[in-house]
Amino acid sequence: MKVRNLFLSIMLSLGSISTVYAENSIKPATNIQETGTKVVMLGTGHPGFDSKRAGQAILIVVDKKLYLFDCGPGYMKNFNSLSKLPWMPKDTLFTNDSVYGAINKLFLTHLDSDHTLGLDEFLLRPWVQGRSTQPVIYGPKGTKNLVAQSLNAFKSDIDHRTLGSQPSNQTGYKAIVHEISKEGVVYQDAKVTVTAFKVPHGSWADGMAYGYRIQTPDKVIVLSGDTRYEERNFQFFKDADILIHEVLSDVGNKKLSPDWQKYMLEAHTTTTQLANIANIVKPKKLVLNHAIFFGQSEQSLLNEVTEIYKGDVILAEDNMIID
Ligand SMILES: [Zn+2]
Repeated sequence: MKVRNLFLSIMLSLGSISTVYAENSIKPATNIQETGTKVVMLGTGHPGFDSKRAGQAILIVVDKKLYLFDCGPGYMKNFNSLSKLPWMPKDTLFTNDSVYGAINKLFLTHLDSDHTLGLDEFLLRPWVQGRSTQPVIYGPKGTKNLVAQSLNAFKSDIDHRTLGSQPSNQTGYKAIVHEISKEGVVYQDAKVTVTAFKVPHGSWADGMAYGYRIQTPDKVIVLSGDTRYEERNFQFFKDADILIHEVLSDVGNKKLSPDWQKYMLEAHTTTTQLANIANIVKPKKLVLNHAIFFGQSEQSLLNEVTEIYKGDVILAEDNMIID
């Protein structure tokens, strides 16, 4: 915790990057505005084990409305770190008028399990705590099946809660699923527009892996999803206030066997490639997400990028808030 406080002090003294952690032991920093779009890195991990990082989950908050992107394993507990923050819905149990009811919009980049193992939690935990609004889920082909099978797998739990003595409702777990098959606007409300774009990720077929570009009243946020280096992506990255991009240590990858190196380059973007991308698309802030270290330290991976790209760069960690 001391390290994080030290980090926070350094970040605040730098002044240019308003990024803090939301852990309960750290009070919200004064330079995080009470209004405006917030990005919360709820889960920043990859398929490997990492006690500091839950599975992929990025939360965007606009006027106390919550937009969740991906639901990897273990991310949901990190919502607790946001309790009492003035820009979050209130944490009141057993009512839809709460953070639980507000966890109702999910956008999946693709169906790899490091991005979806927390789907059951998204469907069930907020419902048990009071969500009665039907959640809405956007994702590629296969999302309807994943949701239906998940609810079927948990039929005993659902029956126990709806047919027994526990106060419950019959709606808050019944997700409405929209499968995405082409690029373009997939969601729009009064303040937020979400546009999906195709990305190439390993052997996933065309149209099965997406990035998202999110326009809010004060920010353009771009999420790369999982993608290899691809110049076609650049058109969707341009003019981003915050570009959250996956990354793989170039140095670490080169230590793998040739077959694994080949696979990684078909699926992911190296530190060197990402630094070159940033030099071209020039985001106001670059966030390194889904970092695959392969034995390199956090600082080493960060250095691999900053040696080539001189703009604002942040290595994402769970509970980090960016505005
Ligand atoms: Zn992944």
